[in-house]
Amino acid sequence: MGFLDSLKSFFGDAGPKDDGYWIYVRCSRCGEVIKTRIDLQGSLSLQDDGTYVAHKTLVGNQLCFQRVEVTLHFDSQRHFTDRDIAFGEFITAEEYAQAGGPTP
Ligand SMILES: [Zn+2]
Repeated sequence: MGFLDSLKSFFGDAGPKDDGYWIYVRCSRCGEVIKTRIDLQGSLSLQDDGTYVAHKTLVGNQLCFQRVEVTLHFDSQRHFTDRDIAFGEFITAEEYAQAGGPTP
């Protein structure tokens, strides 16, 4: 990849297009709310059936050892289809804000 190409891809990545998928969770042990962004370009793993999954392990900033395990499912077009969670629960962005979650 030449210099101009890498420059182009750099500005392409910095553009307004956002391929990320935000998730908000609440730890089932301590109740801390955590949010994270799934990068739809880099985090998806292709499955045998042609669909994609993304795994994410969330750990809060508080003194809690529990890891919240999140799995997101996408179809072959990388459209979100389903999600699973262990050791926590999914919450909405509004619930996250109401719980006082930090906004980076
Ligand atoms: Zn916790």
